[in-house]
Amino acid sequence: MRSRPEEHWKDHSVTARDLVSDSEIYITFSCLGCRMIREANLWRIGARLADDPLQRLRFKCSICGVYAEEVRVQRRQSMASEPLLRIKLNPACWDDGHRAAQVQALAKAEKAWAAKGRR
Ligand SMILES: [Zn+2]
Repeated sequence: MRSRPEEHWKDHSVTARDLVSDSEIYITFSCLGCRMIREANLWRIGARLADDPLQRLRFKCSICGVYAEEVRVQRRQSMASEPLLRIKLNPACWDDGHRAAQVQALAKAEKAWAAKGRR
């Protein structure tokens, strides 16, 4: 498969291969656990799952372990970044026990935030 030009990028079908062809492109997700925007490594995704639509992949925060629900495709610009696509994730497969893992990771994050709030 080859990477497609930007006019063919669609939220349901765009792949890592499409995106890595442009070095200004990056993807982020808003992590519910960390409560901040995190960047996902396109090259790491591309190494294994280059031709799978991003929508069908699962994104897990490497810091807190919470799964993302949506990723955003953006282009780096000198001053700001230009939003290109919002992809509602619909993973084709999950880790074993992902639901329990998600609940656990979120609960842990909640606790950490509550603890911070008390200080
Ligand atoms: Zn996180």
